[in-house]
Amino acid sequence: MNIALIAHDQKKQDMIHFALAYEPILKEHTLYATGTTGKLIMQNTSLEINRLMSGPLGGDQQIGAMIAENRMDVVLFFRDPLTAQPHEPDIIALLRLCDVYGVPLATNMATAEVLVKSIEQGDIDWRKVVNPNKTEEGRT
Ligand code: PGA
Repeated sequence: MNIALIAHDQKKQDMIHFALAYEPILKEHTLYATGTTGKLIMQNTSLEINRLMSGPLGGDQQIGAMIAENRMDVVLFFRDPLTAQPHEPDIIALLRLCDVYGVPLATNMATAEVLVKSIEQGDIDWRKVVNPNKTEEGRT
């Protein structure tokens, strides 16, 4: 399963706690993250993260492209709804693509916990049917 992790600045601490708490589950999957989020997760856990650009510099769009190419299975996006983001259009585009392609998306930690537990139970294994050619490394 390819999983994207994104956290806005006010939510980065929550993301670190989340990654620590669910490290045993997350480490079984291929993880991607926007630049700063990925760096913080790697500094605070033993998880390996494929780091993309920072969100405001195109990282959200890179994840969106992976969704469009059927290379992303789950998006865990800890949004800050109380702070204006310079890259709001990119954020909207990413959320839209999740809906276009039916990719499971959490926009807060509470839902992310539900999704991660679902991943562990195999509830999202239908993603493997959506893209049957995908290898364990997530490449098609
Ligand atoms: P960042 O990007 O992880 O590089 O901070 C996240 C965002 O703000 O969209």
